[in-house]
Amino acid sequence: MLSSLAAELSQLVADPARVLTAPAVLDRLSHDFYWYSPVLRPQLVSKVADVVVQPIGVDEILAVLRFALQHSIPVTVRGAGTGNYGQCVPLEGGIVLDLSRMDKLEEITSEGVAVCQPGLRLAVLETEARKRGWELRMYPSTLAKASVGGFLGGGSGGIGSVAHGGLRDFDNVHAFEVVTMEDSPRVVLHQGAAVHEILHAWGTNGILTRIWFPLAAAQSWTQFTAAFDTYEQAFRFTQSIAVDNGWTKRLATVFEWPIPSFFAPIKQIVRDGKTLSLIMIESTQAGALHAAAELAGGEVTFTGPFDGPRTQPLLSDYTWNHTTLWAMKADPAYTYLQCGFSPRDCEHQFRLLRERYGDEILFHIEFMKNGDGVVVPGAIPVVRFTTEERLNDMINYCRSIGVFVANPHVNYLEDAGRFRADNIQLRAKEKYDPHGLLNPGKMLSFRKQEVPI
Ligand SMILES: Cc1cc2nc3c(=O)[nH]c(=O)nc-3n(C[C@H](O)[C@H](O)[C@H](O)COP(=O)(O)OP(=O)(O)OC[C@H]3O[C@@H](n4cnc5c(N)ncnc54)[C@H](O)[C@@H]3O)c2cc1C
Repeated sequence: MLSSLAAELSQLVADPARVLTAPAVLDRLSHDFYWYSPVLRPQLVSKVADVVVQPIGVDEILAVLRFALQHSIPVTVRGAGTGNYGQCVPLEGGIVLDLSRMDKLEEITSEGVAVCQPGLRLAVLETEARKRGWELRMYPSTLAKASVGGFLGGGSGGIGSVAHGGLRDFDNVHAFEVVTMEDSPRVVLHQGAAVHEILHAWGTNGILTRIWFPLAAAQSWTQFTAAFDTYEQAFRFTQSIAVDNGWTKRLATVFEWPIPSFFAPIKQIVRDGKTLSLIMIESTQAGALHAAAELAGGEVTFTGPFDGPRTQPLLSDYTWNHTTLWAMKADPAYTYLQCGFSPRDCEHQFRLLRERYGDEILFHIEFMKNGDGVVVPGAIPVVRFTTEERLNDMINYCRSIGVFVANPHVNYLEDAGRFRADNIQLRAKEKYDPHGLLNPGKMLSFRKQEVPI
């Protein structure tokens, strides 16, 4: 049965070597970093595709989707598989469509818009953009591996979001072409507000095949760290830089002690017992930032240029969700949450959480601009896991005191933080995937059309 499926799919692509069935390959290409979550780990470990297809063009994707429709086979699209809550894990098996070979950068327009295929790696785009005087507006800390399509399909923001907001804000994604799973699959252009129908929908309602991704004018950046005696001091200093438009920055991060102790390769910039502030600042402002940090009681522990993705040490490798990875390396009992604190009440919220959970929760702040243009303390706190009940208690308590939580311990869109209240992702699924074959099981509010295909 399996080999006949692979044999039939091999007829649809130019090179049958791009239809993969080796069990170890299927296992690898069916998983992402879902194991970050002790709750998702047992749920997803055994989920595996029946076959992986690696298309190199839209015609091959259309042919595979037509075949899948005819035989009611689920299709789950995959970029680089760096998602951290099993977004690209095929819950019902079927076909994994691995787009890593569709990785062309078509052009960077004179207005600074990258036109590319979805499998293009973000680090390649950042490097090529910088050669032409541009840079990514924002990127996840998985820059080196993650693809543009996967970032739009499953990511939200990252380095650069303190200035430019998230993917869903400020026209940060201009347009894309989407292949649908309708009775006759087709390519549809989405631009402007229509991108929000598909953005961050985990490939459940269409497959991005060509993307118009606007860039920012390149800056010369300096990486900067300072150590502070207390978390409060470090937080207030970093917040003062993050919210002040006079400072041009790409990153503003705070790591409460002992998080910095997990960063083994850069221990020379860490100070025992102290909270670390990490900022990427426009290079001509580095001297002034140094003075400001000292005035605020900090010890500057590092300044060095950022020369693109190959910079050593690349301090963004310790930020955003990489922080969790370093914590788990130090002690596998750590996991994480994805939170948004109130810019006005955050210090009160920190205190309440500290009182209730002690050092079960360690504060890791990533400042980011929200859609209203306000710079807010986003956070990916490191959490010591004991039981699912305790984790849910923490999530519920956060929400009860006004802390937003995008729950990374569920595998469906509705509770994972970016599902739109206006339901346009759901409406797009009803329109583009009426039979529910795209990444099934990830959008719980969807009811499939019970008519024969
Ligand atoms: C260590 C670590 C750090 C991280 N840091 C960040 C961070 O800073 N910011 C952040 O936002 N995320 C972060 N993430 C999550 C993840 O790395 C990003 O979201 C990343 O951009 C995903 O890209 P990918 O190519 O690996 O996508 P994948 O994991 O392959 O896919 C992600 C989702 O998008 C869907 N998808 C993939 N390609 C397409 C397509 N062409 N069309 C439609 N849907 C598609 C998939 O089905 C899946 O649901 C982190 C994860 C880890 C493990």
